[in-house]
Amino acid sequence: MNETRLRFEVVVVGAGPAGLAAACAAAENGCRTALVDDTPWLGGQIWRGQQAHPANPKAARWVERFRRAKASLLDQCTVLGPADRRTLLAEHPDGPRQIEWERLILAAGARELFLPFPGWTLPGNFGPGGLQSLAKHGWPVAGKRIVLAGSGPLLLAVGGGLRKMGASIVSINEQAPLSRLISFATGLLAWPAKLAQAARLKWTLRGTPFRCGVWPVGAEGGEQLRAVTLSDGRRQWMEACDLLACGFGLVPNVELPLALGCQLDDEFVRVDPWQASSVAGVYAAGELTGIGGADAALVEGEIAGLAASGKEEAARRLMARRAAWRRFGADLGAAFALREEVARLAAAETVVCRCEDVRFDRMKSFAGWRDAKLQTRCGMGSCQGRVCGAAARVLFGWGMESVRPPVLPARVESLCADFLTDQSPVRK
Ligand SMILES: Cc1cc2nc3c(=O)[nH]c(=O)nc-3n(C[C@H](O)[C@H](O)[C@H](O)COP(=O)(O)OP(=O)(O)OC[C@H]3O[C@@H](n4cnc5c(N)ncnc54)[C@H](O)[C@@H]3O)c2cc1C
Repeated sequence: MNETRLRFEVVVVGAGPAGLAAACAAAENGCRTALVDDTPWLGGQIWRGQQAHPANPKAARWVERFRRAKASLLDQCTVLGPADRRTLLAEHPDGPRQIEWERLILAAGARELFLPFPGWTLPGNFGPGGLQSLAKHGWPVAGKRIVLAGSGPLLLAVGGGLRKMGASIVSINEQAPLSRLISFATGLLAWPAKLAQAARLKWTLRGTPFRCGVWPVGAEGGEQLRAVTLSDGRRQWMEACDLLACGFGLVPNVELPLALGCQLDDEFVRVDPWQASSVAGVYAAGELTGIGGADAALVEGEIAGLAASGKEEAARRLMARRAAWRRFGADLGAAFALREEVARLAAAETVVCRCEDVRFDRMKSFAGWRDAKLQTRCGMGSCQGRVCGAAARVLFGWGMESVRPPVLPARVESLCADFLTDQSPVRK
């Protein structure tokens, strides 16, 4: 991709399940479509890297469908924000890009939620999804003793994957109580494929303790994590390990939608039945609109792609399937809702903003995110509040008050791109 100025009828941001489905639907219906992703891979968090080794048949089918649909792929291209009302500013290793759109579909997915507790910044402490991603790309985990903690089905999925790679999974500790998980598991009878997937994972993890109603209260070690202290609310105990993989579920990547002016409902992008956001011409799909898993993301993406191509009738036919997956997502959210205790794990001296070294006691003296940011620089480091901002929402109930581009770290060259005033012809 060498052109710096590009124009498409439909631009899709994010090549996970939602973005792939949206790009296929739009391109198959005759729209000149581009799929933009900041990684070199198709498939998003769950499938990335699988086109080379298609272990997952569903991923392979979608990648093949995308190839046949003949949409343009703008990979390694990070969207930094709007350059103007109908143009995105993006960054590619070869230089900045300006991407004009007539309809824009946002499918930027979600990231892990980390909640601070004493020792959480020690080397050896990872997010489960982050550790899985490192391991999938070759970081050696064989023989490592790993404790998983936090919340959500990702703990089981990651534990199973790491065990297959030769790691020794010491224990999996889910903060949700057993009663909620039993009622969620009973509901899975209506989702045979999900039930079978859960059963396969439990079989892979046979012999590994899976505890409910247990959460981490401390990570121990000098220079490097050596053990984790766990609690069930009544007692505490320590487990020796080499790595801790701890995450408390997922939070949507809403920075780009917010920078474009999209309204949120609670923390998710508000969409109508066609997946259209509150901004004309901008649609959203997948984890941006609710945490529901890859199948929910696929059907939402397809509806958005069809609606953006003017194929409302075809989109309407998918709405019953979407409603079913949304019910599944709601059950998931209820089962793994965070208990109050996990919002109170930080001690006074625990660092909450690790980029700018801001402690819990300093942050809690402020009334809101903006004040804390102005006085302490929290959220102004390289993660731009993507870690501590999400934590502050749980710890203090603070919302993100404003978002300004760039929504992801960018090179100065991209921000001073002279094509913003350049009159050279746009490649159509
Ligand atoms: C770290 C992590 C690991 C996960 N692992 C699993 C798993 O093993 N099994 C499982 O069932 N579910 C997993 N999930 C959940 C899974 O990702 C979702 O259920 C579902 O696949 C989401 O699909 P999506 O298309 O909405 O988003 P995603 O799959 O997250 O895709 C979003 C894509 O958008 C790209 N993107 C975001 N912002 C920009 C930008 N500004 N510019 C360009 N590109 C951008 C991202 O790099 C990503 O490729 C994981 C989630 C996370 C966060």
